[in-house]
Amino acid sequence: MSNQDLSRRAFINTAGKAGVVAGLSGSVLTAFGNTDTPQNKHDTSPDPVPYKQRPLPYAYAALEPAIDAMTMEIHYTKHAATYAKNLAEAVDAEKVDISKVALEDLLASISKYSVKMRNNAGGHYNHSLFWELMTSPGKTTVPSAALSASIQRDFGSLDAMKTKFNDAAKGRFGSGWAWVIVKKDGKLDVVSTPNQDNPLMDISESKGQPLFGLDVWEHAYYLKYQNKRPDYITAWWSVINWDYINNRYSML
Ligand code: MN
Repeated sequence: MSNQDLSRRAFINTAGKAGVVAGLSGSVLTAFGNTDTPQNKHDTSPDPVPYKQRPLPYAYAALEPAIDAMTMEIHYTKHAATYAKNLAEAVDAEKVDISKVALEDLLASISKYSVKMRNNAGGHYNHSLFWELMTSPGKTTVPSAALSASIQRDFGSLDAMKTKFNDAAKGRFGSGWAWVIVKKDGKLDVVSTPNQDNPLMDISESKGQPLFGLDVWEHAYYLKYQNKRPDYITAWWSVINWDYINNRYSML
């Protein structure tokens, strides 16, 4: 994670907690207010994802027993790292100026690019988000009042949302992701996407801002769970980082 990313996050956390911008130091405001960066040109994503892989925000073993250390290490250093590497090749080959085009914007016009771009821009974005929205068991907290109210409104209850999400994750044939998205009208919905597609893509059947998502590729769970994808999905709720999701929701 770059210093600028850290500064921006510090800003978001500070502003979110304080509810006001006043009182922040000049250096933080300068970092946040630099309009030359693609991150700050993009105003629809709460935490724009850079093109390079960020450091994992915890140790490989931090999510045990839900997700084992070896799975995390291989997933992060091999699978996710490869998406980032292939994305770098694709943006180079297809002459995307990454200093000007935010990754979220590239995804929104992914139909104009190659299959390699689609698979790897999606793969990199999806995993970058996935690492952030998990945390050690015991640090998972609960949905905020604002998010809880929206969950009640759109699903009836948190349990009903989880059931719908679990069904989407279990029902995804082959490889893909399950998502809770915020649609254009502000409503929450559960959707799933194949392969490394996501709801930001213009080619996606279900469009919206991803609030959180679950990787149901076999590489995400097979070492520990083998064919038992439902057990992985159930265990995954014990490492969900509601603090991150609550903050993300407040920015959408
Ligand atoms: Mn994965």
